Amino acid sequence: MQIEKIIDLIIIGGGPIGLACGIAAKNAGLSYLIIEKGCLTNSLYNYPQGMTFFSTAERLEIGNLPFVSINPKPKRAEALEYYRRVSLSYELNIHLFEAVKNVVKEDGFFNVETSKSNYSARNIIVATGFYDIPMLMDIPGENLPKVFHYYQEPHYFSNQNVVVVGASNSSVDAALETFRKGANVTLIARGPGIGERVKYWVKPDIENRIAAGEIKAYFSSNLLEVRESEVDIETPDGIKTIPNDFVLALTGYQPNFEFLNNIGIELDQKNMRMPHYNETTMETNIEGIYLAGVVCGGLNTHSWFIENSRVHADQIIEAITAKGTKQKV
Ligand code: FAD
Repeated sequence: MQIEKIIDLIIIGGGPIGLACGIAAKNAGLSYLIIEKGCLTNSLYNYPQGMTFFSTAERLEIGNLPFVSINPKPKRAEALEYYRRVSLSYELNIHLFEAVKNVVKEDGFFNVETSKSNYSARNIIVATGFYDIPMLMDIPGENLPKVFHYYQEPHYFSNQNVVVVGASNSSVDAALETFRKGANVTLIARGPGIGERVKYWVKPDIENRIAAGEIKAYFSSNLLEVRESEVDIETPDGIKTIPNDFVLALTGYQPNFEFLNNIGIELDQKNMRMPHYNETTMETNIEGIYLAGVVCGGLNTHSWFIENSRVHADQIIEAITAKGTKQKV
């Protein structure tokens, strides 16, 4: 493994917020490198193919570049196009398909070990998001190949008995799409109804499909067990067993707490495993390590979005430059 020169900043994660950090660093004249374990904006790439953002296009903008969409709410494909153009326009220094394995502070610098190399940096930004680790249901049969924790597109499920677990945006989108491609859809949700955060233009659609009996829904219910050709559901009226071909368990995702823990970031054990950071500078309990983007919310993955966390980039770069750590190498 080759040790490279010491740079001002390594940004872990090439999502929208990692890119925003790279742009702010470049504008401030810092030497920086973005390291992304997958493709550019890997989380967005893995979203459902037909996904529509709940944010309007201008609220997803970074680097003062306009996001032009013919729809008020852009689609995943448009967002991929936009962030790719942003990355190319700013000629961002980014290594793709390279995972950061560990970060260790030594003699005032950070040694960053990746799947391909080692680097040294004066500062680190962790912008690793929350989309890599699904929240598991911890039920028998969850590891069967017919159970998916990520949903891509509906054609595969045509003419099949599909259970969708959850009643928030991802589950509702998947239930409606698969229903419209001919799946026999049953929605199972722990809460008493469709989630309040479901996109306002989608909520009436799912509620009307349920009211019409086109999509069967069990609320205040839990999926108990998955077997090859059926599932058990715990409902307020007792346990129901229904025929089943596929389960879309869209029960949410969580940040990689093990990674945060390993690099020494303190997590609040009582409050949704919130990582500790200064709200003005975004610096963590480890001097020189900063957090940016949705990873800041811990288990409360609904607290930060692109639109309210893109400002983290300027907050952090301001804090780094104010410290006077900028040093040309
Ligand atoms: P991410 O986009 O998740 O980027 C983190 C990156 O870090 C990933 O590319 C990941 O591969 C990489 N990474 C992780 N670990 C490592 C490692 N060890 N080494 C190297 N790279 C690593 N937000 C909105 O503002 N508006 C919306 O409309 C919206 N819709 C959403 C719809 C869905 C289905 C989902 C799941 C989320 C949605 N969000 C929306 C939230 C959205 O995901 C985030 O706001 C956005 O992706 C956050 O950007 P980020 O850069 O913080 O994290």
